[in-house]
Amino acid sequence: MPPVVFPLDSTKKFTDQRIVGHNRWHGEIPAQVHVSPGDVFRVDCREWFDGAIHNDDSAEDVLHAPLPGVHVLSGPIAVEGAKPGDLLIVDILDVGPIPQEDSGPLAGQGWGYTGVFATQNGGGFLTEWFPDAYKVIWDFRGGTATSRHIPGVSYTGIVHPGLMGTAPSAALLAKWNAREQALIDTDPGRVPPLALPPLADSAILGTLTGADFDRVAAEAARTAPPRENGGNQDIKNFTKGTRVFYPVFVDGANLSMGDLHFSQGDGEITFCGAIEMGGFLDLHVDLIKGGMDTYGVSENAIFLPGNTDPQYSEWLAFSGTSVTLDGQQHYLDSHLSYQRACLHAIDYLTKFGYSRIQAYMILGSAPIEGRLSGVVDIPNSCSTVYLPTAIFDVDVRPSASGPEQVAPGPSVPTASF
Ligand code: ZN
Repeated sequence: MPPVVFPLDSTKKFTDQRIVGHNRWHGEIPAQVHVSPGDVFRVDCREWFDGAIHNDDSAEDVLHAPLPGVHVLSGPIAVEGAKPGDLLIVDILDVGPIPQEDSGPLAGQGWGYTGVFATQNGGGFLTEWFPDAYKVIWDFRGGTATSRHIPGVSYTGIVHPGLMGTAPSAALLAKWNAREQALIDTDPGRVPPLALPPLADSAILGTLTGADFDRVAAEAARTAPPRENGGNQDIKNFTKGTRVFYPVFVDGANLSMGDLHFSQGDGEITFCGAIEMGGFLDLHVDLIKGGMDTYGVSENAIFLPGNTDPQYSEWLAFSGTSVTLDGQQHYLDSHLSYQRACLHAIDYLTKFGYSRIQAYMILGSAPIEGRLSGVVDIPNSCSTVYLPTAIFDVDVRPSASGPEQVAPGPSVPTASF
């Protein structure tokens, strides 16, 4: 095992750890870990809600989830010699759940969860149709996920970090804050909101204290969206074997990471989220001096996807177009057409005995493929969602004999305001 440069004690809260990480982006959060190009090291990561979501049969914890406290990130990690304009190479050598045999209280100890927020808390991709809070618990065994809340489905994990990135410079942070506030200002009362402005409440900023803490907390960006520094990209193919090239904006690059997922479908449509868990990342880092210019990589990270993938080769695909359910035509709206493809798949799975929320949870957490199949054929974009047929106990392909039914019984814990 490589040296653990960012350890976490599972029995303690994130803020009580020997090294306290952070939950906002800001270039002045001090790096407490220093590594050199060529180093191999391990980073422990806490599940994104720091243990607030429990292995039980109630969705009350998702309904009342401590939203201002996310995401709890491990870092910043300074890389010796990294300067603005460089590209930071990060290799994911290994990634997995908390290495502990017994099932414990924290997500990652043999189990994880998929949640959907209530609309008032941000909802999810399909919040119009699923307005409440929902939670599903998954058990991990031999690399496979099954749930006591969803019958007849099991699949191989595609373990990856949802979030990793470098710290922004002051100028880049100011740009983020300006453009996101401008968007919020177009409809400040919207539920769910258009974006999340800086929020001092529940900010965790490593070793910062006093006036520095207050100033940085008022400016620092929230961790929900992906941005130029990488961030919460939620790319399911960030598995073992991935090599990412991050733009460097501050001295040392100040790399941070978290939000580990046991599995996820393209889009992480459930939002809270994939199959969430705590765990570890084994990383190797290196630098390409001046690489941002050399390769024209300044807008965002580029990456070589991981070399581990579940072995699914047969798929049942659903398509959607950019027309709303009540028949309104939109112009090449791929967000809408992907919603329609997902709703199409959900409706279909109900014919096999799944509830609609069970089907939604499967789409958010299983290794489904989402694709922009057509983006030019005015006025309809075409998006598709591919479901691996082998994850279902019953044959979900259409046939003359009609849909076989999954075992009845389990239901999804639900809670509402
Ligand atoms: Zn996540």
